[in-house]
Amino acid sequence: MVFSRYSIRMTVNYEIDLLSRFARILAAQGYDRGLQPVQWQALRFLEAANRFSRTAKGLTAWLGQTKGSVSQTLIALEGKKLIARETDNADARVVRLNLTQAGRALLADGQTSLPRRMLSHLSSGDQALFVGFVEAMLRTELSKSGGRPFGLCSDCRHFRSGTAGQHYCALLRVQLNELDSQKICIEQESSHVEA
Ligand code: SF4
Repeated sequence: MVFSRYSIRMTVNYEIDLLSRFARILAAQGYDRGLQPVQWQALRFLEAANRFSRTAKGLTAWLGQTKGSVSQTLIALEGKKLIARETDNADARVVRLNLTQAGRALLADGQTSLPRRMLSHLSSGDQALFVGFVEAMLRTELSKSGGRPFGLCSDCRHFRSGTAGQHYCALLRVQLNELDSQKICIEQESSHVEA
């Protein structure tokens, strides 16, 4: 297993340097097909997030940026016709952000993007371990700083699994389908940690 092999020779400083270098490389080389790294991050968020989270507020919480920076990102993506805004039918105060067909097509063609390529160097087992480690670090750090950790709907303590792909959210009191259960949510509270 890759991680146990590396852990033998890790010092605390080496771990920090690795993490910093990893982040720097992603940030510096994430420019692709005319989009900046943060614009790719926003598109991937809109692909992964459920309908309750696909808002400017949700994206701001996910990126950890200021409202002004996120607004600029959204304006740029709208200008490229990769996303579109949709006012909620039930609540006009809620403006949802959706990928357009062009946005979906771009993401589908994004298999060669740097984060995907870096992940592909790991076996599926090590990818799962990596995700678990990063999730644990982010969740702990963000909970201390008042940030939103997000997380998979099906791992939420409010998720009620039903039959035939018909599920229920006990917090928002709405029906969820199978696709919803595999999305990330701003309201998610992990079922794996103490409330
Ligand atoms: S069950 Fe949890 S993660 Fe899923 S929609 Fe409800 S609050 Fe969000």
